Amino acid sequence: ACTSDSGDDSTLTVCTEVPFAPFESKEGDDYVGFDIDLMNLLAERLDQEVEVVEIGFESIASGEALNAGTCDIGAAGLTITEERQAAMGMSQAYYRADQALVVGAGSTVASIEDLSGMRVAVQSGSTGETYANDNAEQYGYEVVSFESMGDITAALTAQNVDASIADLATWTDMVETATDLTLVQKIDTGEAYGFAVQKDDAKLLEEVNAMLDEAFKDGTYAEIYEKWIGE
Ligand code: GLN
Repeated sequence: ACTSDSGDDSTLTVCTEVPFAPFESKEGDDYVGFDIDLMNLLAERLDQEVEVVEIGFESIASGEALNAGTCDIGAAGLTITEERQAAMGMSQAYYRADQALVVGAGSTVASIEDLSGMRVAVQSGSTGETYANDNAEQYGYEVVSFESMGDITAALTAQNVDASIADLATWTDMVETATDLTLVQKIDTGEAYGFAVQKDDAKLLEEVNAMLDEAFKDGTYAEIYEKWIGE
């Protein structure tokens, strides 16, 4: 915490981006979710208070925000990738993730194979964007990048795009309220989420990993999992 500009030693500054339910979302003035509960556990362990810094996903995922000292830790449903491990300190895995294909009202698309000639929305800097780009030529669709899941949902509803590829758990949650959207295909990518710290913050990285070890062992993780994801 001492290397961050934005907080003192009594504050754990957490970079995140919303909406990304069930991992992080805003309820009134409060940030809630799976990631936030785990960050509260970490803060408790460090005798600190969580202070959330809302910032664009791409600047978290690239390491830019953390390495500039904007916050102590990134909690944003961040998939562990080699690139991110090189740019930042990444914790052990705490959630097993996949991608999903979502379409708007009246769509006849049932799978990625039906996307020829269509516009597919993704989030800038996300693993969904990478997946969509890697498969665009084969299936003949155009990738359109948006800053947030909120922007993607709005574009789908307005029918400015035909489909979207983004994280399964978040889409599963979001299609419950965005009733005009339908999740049509789960795409197995075998991802794992981790928390990110500043590149040289070995001390905080150790604390995050120890917090997770303890939560896995004492049942706290299972409780948090059940609260936000279900059985
Ligand atoms: N898990 C995906 C990634 O890390 C998406 C995360 C997000 O959009 N918050 O790229």
